[in-house]
Amino acid sequence: MKAVLLSAAKVALLVALLVLTNKGLVARFQVLIDEQRLVTLVVFSALWMCALAAVLAAAFHPSPVVRTVWALPLAAAGASAFGYHLVQGSEFFIFDVLNFWAARHEAGRAMAFYSAAVGPSILVFGLGIAAIAMPSGLSFSVSPRIRVAQALLPAVPIVLIALVVIYREGKGSEAMPKQFSPISLAALAAYKLGTGMYVPRDPVALQPGRPLVRALVMMVDESMRADFVSLDPGNAVTPAFAEEGRRWIDFGPAVSSGNCSNISNAMLRFMAERRNLVASVVKNPTIWQYAKAAGFRTVFIDAQAGFITVYGKLQNYMTPTEAAWIDDIHKLDDDIPAYSLDDELVRIALEELARGDRVFIYANKNGAHFPYINNAPGNEAVEQGPPGDDPATLAAYTKAVRWSTDRTMARLTKEANWDGTTMVYTADHGQNFSTGRLTHCSSVTNVNPNEGIVPLMVATEDQALRDRLTAVARNYPGKASHFAIAPTLLELMGYAPSDVSAIYDLSLLSHLPNEPQLVSDDIFGLFGTRPNWHPVDPRLQADTADVSLLELDGGIPGEPVGLHRSDARLN
Ligand SMILES: [Zn+2]
Repeated sequence: MKAVLLSAAKVALLVALLVLTNKGLVARFQVLIDEQRLVTLVVFSALWMCALAAVLAAAFHPSPVVRTVWALPLAAAGASAFGYHLVQGSEFFIFDVLNFWAARHEAGRAMAFYSAAVGPSILVFGLGIAAIAMPSGLSFSVSPRIRVAQALLPAVPIVLIALVVIYREGKGSEAMPKQFSPISLAALAAYKLGTGMYVPRDPVALQPGRPLVRALVMMVDESMRADFVSLDPGNAVTPAFAEEGRRWIDFGPAVSSGNCSNISNAMLRFMAERRNLVASVVKNPTIWQYAKAAGFRTVFIDAQAGFITVYGKLQNYMTPTEAAWIDDIHKLDDDIPAYSLDDELVRIALEELARGDRVFIYANKNGAHFPYINNAPGNEAVEQGPPGDDPATLAAYTKAVRWSTDRTMARLTKEANWDGTTMVYTADHGQNFSTGRLTHCSSVTNVNPNEGIVPLMVATEDQALRDRLTAVARNYPGKASHFAIAPTLLELMGYAPSDVSAIYDLSLLSHLPNEPQLVSDDIFGLFGTRPNWHPVDPRLQADTADVSLLELDGGIPGEPVGLHRSDARLN
């Protein structure tokens, strides 16, 4: 009797585990049936049968050691899928796993922002351990050979799912059993990262001429939505920056190259070509190599380095080989509070510009990196709202933009040595405020256009350059994208326009002929040569006019900012 109760409880826990962690399974079956994808349906069903058998084999193995050894990874896999679903409302793909790995130093910050998902995920992990490891109370007499087979069976779905993902060039893991697919994806990601990621880059083949500038600054902000950064005098969020607006030529709203810090920054530094994406990302000389060949001293200021605790690890796919091309690296320590990082970054940039030599500076601001409340002072006791368009969250974001971008960009503009200096300002990606979605870094079909709508501006006092930039900004509204930045920098560094235009079909100095697109996921071609392109109309935020809905009370930086908005939903 006791055995029956025990095994009934175990089965009930297993069913609860499978149901909780495998959201989207029924919908997936429905899609496959509706679209009459019979082969996929057969493979998918067979894989699921195998997975169910494997879960039972592990959970009903007579050895407590075998049950516990499988309970740990299977429960962790299910809990990770469950937690991700709470945060994003969908499941993760292999590219998400690669993104997580590349941004693993951000785990603490992400955890704080998505803290509501942590507790339930731990509970689901506990449920998984209990369901799989608890004794069933049943006793079968089976041969030792069958016991061994039973112990090994859970490895089979892990291998099968990995094979499907390889065959489908990184996709194909949708609605696969979550007790196994996260393990397959993690193993595959580790393998792909460990092999084939870093191949030697080409040397600079173009002949540098006379540079058009003495100093060139590439200021890459963090998580900055285009509609929160404005040069309109007296605007609500960036009024101080707007006061210095006369030096800036505004190409925004524009579209970032990617929707995640790591890929966007990688594409900027690797001089990505829109028409030849994967090959250019993997093989092109880096921005540092071009700058050095043109006679510039190279400077990298990383305001986010303090979050990297693994010794020697560089951000955003930077390798030691790439770093060797940088003359002066400034990594801001973790003893600086997050809200002071951009002040420190600007101080260093001003100092570097004041030296008066020929210099190229690439700076990664801290901007509005989540958790937003950390990016302005006086928020230590403030509760941030949940991710999404919660008023408290938007208020914290607004305050972060005001403190970390408005003030600091105003100071940079006001105090810089403008003698021969040209600056480009943009952000690595935007921010999506839809509730129940990731703010950025989503994959494949989950990408929201707001993840890629960013500011893009150029400042210079050189009248000839101003005339050209102004004409392009005026003639191509809504067409600017990160892919126009590399060719612009090359010409400013002194490379011949004809050489540059032979490689790139757009430039902020000449024309922007294409509808902008961002690219997500596999920019390195780890699984195939077709990364996912997403057309984005950067003007769509103008229709929702988010920021005009925000009325700020107070507004003294450091003071809590009250925020009201109408009932219109933010995107
Ligand atoms: Zn970012």
